[in-house]
Amino acid sequence: QSDQAPVVIIGSGLSGYSLARELRKRDSDLPLMMITSDDGASYSKPMLSTGFTKGKTADELAQSEAGAMAEQLNMDIRTHTLVTGIDPQTHEVLIGSERLTYSKLVLAWGADVIRLPDAVSGCGRVCSINDLEDYRYFRRMVEGRRRFILLGAGLIGCEYANDLRNGGFDVTVVAPSTQVMPGLLPEAAAEAVQNALEAEGVTFHLGVAAEAVSEDESGAQVHLGDGAMLQGDLVISAVGLRPRTSLAAEAGLEVGHGIRVDRLLATSAEDVYALGDCAEVEGQVLMYVMPLMAAARALAATLTGTPTPVKWGAMPVMVKTPCCPTAACPPVESDDGHWDVQREGNNVRALYRNAAGDLLGFAVTGDYVIEKQALAKEVPPLLA
Ligand code: FAD
Repeated sequence: QSDQAPVVIIGSGLSGYSLARELRKRDSDLPLMMITSDDGASYSKPMLSTGFTKGKTADELAQSEAGAMAEQLNMDIRTHTLVTGIDPQTHEVLIGSERLTYSKLVLAWGADVIRLPDAVSGCGRVCSINDLEDYRYFRRMVEGRRRFILLGAGLIGCEYANDLRNGGFDVTVVAPSTQVMPGLLPEAAAEAVQNALEAEGVTFHLGVAAEAVSEDESGAQVHLGDGAMLQGDLVISAVGLRPRTSLAAEAGLEVGHGIRVDRLLATSAEDVYALGDCAEVEGQVLMYVMPLMAAARALAATLTGTPTPVKWGAMPVMVKTPCCPTAACPPVESDDGHWDVQREGNNVRALYRNAAGDLLGFAVTGDYVIEKQALAKEVPPLLA
């Protein structure tokens, strides 16, 4: 029975739609269904953190509605439908009490924002922005407000800081790390980005955590671990993302940091695959667009009869801080090497080499950003 059932994709983000497009390039008739808890609009998530710089509202960011996508890709799309479980033994997806049979199942259900404790996140003036719905809400909240406090100095926190400044707002960033983007950038490159953001008017409180947020008629008060108190109108929490794994774990699938898959993007359950922000591919969770596009191409080939392992070359991450253009290929944690840093003002070229002189990673800012492609060619692939 499951042989005639559709290939079911859960999630209508870049992973779900990229896979559907790649499948359609190979097979125009394959029965295909997408189930998504949101409205199914196709949009480019990276645009969320350049909304003010590019002058885009939430509606302008939505490239196509679900109906148009369903027609274009010749597939059924069930929107506003939350999958509540999966049953790999019977090849069924659970939607409350409804059961829906699949031939192959693809989990493309993304990552959740990490929620800070209730003392911080419980306040109505704290929001996070991880999808178009969040963005729509945020743009409504922005009306008539001027002072923003950003919790988190990672890639997304820094991008929102730059974007909000470009929108003419007051921006303060608070984070427990002592530098911006600690997982991505070496100190010198992080300093360059921070200096450039400060020159734009962003204020930083690093090395200290927000312990509580309260509100009154004057706005929100962010109480810091060092006793200081910051006053703002709205607080944006951008402290990181965690792959959605709970439904997979409940169904008995192997999970680690993400849903564990092999190079064919196959989970530990037969006929169940995963890609994108929710997936851990041979130990690596890469929550970026380039890895998910490569995964979508490989998986489409596999699902249409040509088993194709995903390959990941070195993929530089571009940080969308226009005040200090930045690109980085962080070395893999186990790599043993040292940073060589060249720096003139906010132009930094930081190269991570091993004892033999091989380039294992890099970060470039300002004028050096043009070197990113050439440098990436020298860095070993993530999955050869
Ligand atoms: P998502 O887009 O999160 O999609 C998940 C989908 O699953 C959604 O449709 C959701 O509704 C659905 N879903 C979840 N649970 C269920 C359920 N139980 N039942 C049904 N449906 C469900 N990457 C870059 O490479 N470059 C950038 O410049 C960049 N900028 C970024 C800026 C921001 C602000 C953010 C937040 C991310 C950025 N990223 C960037 C990361 C990149 O956008 C993501 O890696 C990518 O969009 C993830 O796509 P996805 O389809 O895997 O997940």
